[in-house]
Amino acid sequence: EWVDFNTFFNSIIDRFEFSKSQEVSFRRIVPPEDLFVEIDTDKMTQVIDNIISNALKYSPDGGIVRFNVAVLEDSIRVSIADEGLGIPAANVNRIFDRFFRADKARSRAMGGTGLGLAIAKEMISAHGGKIWAHSVEGEGTSIFFTLPYEQHDDGEWDV
Ligand code: ATP
Ligand code: MG
Repeated sequence: EWVDFNTFFNSIIDRFEFSKSQEVSFRRIVPPEDLFVEIDTDKMTQVIDNIISNALKYSPDGGIVRFNVAVLEDSIRVSIADEGLGIPAANVNRIFDRFFRADKARSRAMGGTGLGLAIAKEMISAHGGKIWAHSVEGEGTSIFFTLPYEQHDDGEWDV
């Protein structure tokens, strides 16, 4: 299905913004132009839902969750960044492994199965994109993913 990614992304963020119970605020930086991407909207919704629920789950009261969409040469890069407790450097890449949970005790208290990001990785790969994390303990975590995107140069004709 072809959708404008910004409209699609904003409607998911809206849903979380209206329903969240925590004192966490949202900041969005999304380009104004339409960014048409061909995605499975159900699957991408599941991916983004999990990333946002993780960000909320680990955010402190008063924390800010930042949403960003950047247009690169042949893809868009989406990031969702929180000010939560972060992930130890040795574990950052393992959060995409099935059943991996960075802190067993904490994770048990938080609920969940440890599958969310493993599924996200499969789905982003199936869309031709990449997903990765950047995290600093005590400062926060950012999850990035890319999706293929072709910039169209409207009004120019090749002769
Ligand atoms: P599920 O998504 O299946 O309900 P889950 O949230 O524990 O369970 P994942 O979404 O795959 O599983 O995340 C794996 C682990 O990565 C989490 O248990 C947590 O330890 C760590 N993690 C993920 N996102 C964050 C984040 N934003 N801040 C801190 N730790 C995180
Ligand atoms: Mg999760």
